[in-house]
Amino acid sequence: MKAVAVFPVKREVRVIDAPEPRLQSPTQVKVRTLETGVCGTDKDIVSFSYGTPPPGSDFLILGHECLGEVVEVGSAVKGLQVGDLVVPRVRRPCPHATCPACRGGHPDFCITGDYTERGIKEAHGFCSERFVEDVAYVHRVPRELREVAVLTEPLTIAEKGLREWERIQERLPWRPAPGRAVVLGAGPVGQLAVLTLLRRGFATTVYSHSSKPNPKAEAAEAAGAPYLSTKDVSPDELVRSVGEPDLIYEATGVVKAAFDALKTLANNGVFIFTGVPSDQQPLSLAGEEFLKQVVLRNQVLLGTVNAAATDFDAALEDLARFRARWPGGLERLITSRHPPEDFLDVVTGKAGKGIKQVITFS
Ligand code: BGC
Repeated sequence: MKAVAVFPVKREVRVIDAPEPRLQSPTQVKVRTLETGVCGTDKDIVSFSYGTPPPGSDFLILGHECLGEVVEVGSAVKGLQVGDLVVPRVRRPCPHATCPACRGGHPDFCITGDYTERGIKEAHGFCSERFVEDVAYVHRVPRELREVAVLTEPLTIAEKGLREWERIQERLPWRPAPGRAVVLGAGPVGQLAVLTLLRRGFATTVYSHSSKPNPKAEAAEAAGAPYLSTKDVSPDELVRSVGEPDLIYEATGVVKAAFDALKTLANNGVFIFTGVPSDQQPLSLAGEEFLKQVVLRNQVLLGTVNAAATDFDAALEDLARFRARWPGGLERLITSRHPPEDFLDVVTGKAGKGIKQVITFS
């Protein structure tokens, strides 16, 4: 079967002919891949700065954002049948009995670091015609979400971040209403965070690099989030224009942009980091000002990665809500679809730029 693989030692990325996987246990399902999304992590993997093949393999099959269709079910599988649409989760638990996160169904909080991630760390991904997975790690997708469900995994990043935000703000002696949110970055993770924040009632603004007009700004504004460019609007002007944000959701991995915006955070505010910088970005920081601000203003800086089963369930429910509230809004985030042979061109930007670019298996 066709698969897109990276060979880190040979420094190659290409379509390979891989053996079709077989069910190895009665609780597994075999899935025909329909689509895989391409993201910044894939970019890091194909530039050989991230990602690890499974032990004993010289290649890693890529792809961790996926929508597929069940083509075979093991004898002990309940709740799924052939023809069902599914999205798989990314991370699998570490083997250690002492890891409370992994033993408790939350490898997204693994304490040992020995987890695996499909398409990223020591486990093949989903950018292949077929894959096999335990039913415990896949979520059934309502058929009406067929066109947009490839966005489930990137949406789970916002679902987890906001689930954590809710728990963090339980520290306050009153129940805060959703206030003002600023999203840094207007790529897919940022755009999906915008919809999630708007849905929860935050007055949401996007603060991103490119000047208007541009398609990312248009997508955010069509949903109801004003877009301001960091080229045209300073952090002080941002505050004058929309007020101090109670929540800043960082989705760029650009260090300076993040720390510039951090200065605008309101009292008791939460800054959520989701972007992973892919290059060296030394920062000169007025450390005493920084600590003074965070301490004297009761602020929380939160890093968040990956997502749990509950976030995938929430993402699927939200996709349905977003579709009802913003008809066509999710579809416009998927800006192009390409065959697997184009993976490298898509990930490196040679196949044009867009918001979310997707690999389609016919
Ligand atoms: C994926 C996460 C993963 C993270 C770190 C992200 O692109 O969405 O599932 O945990 O990369 O590898």
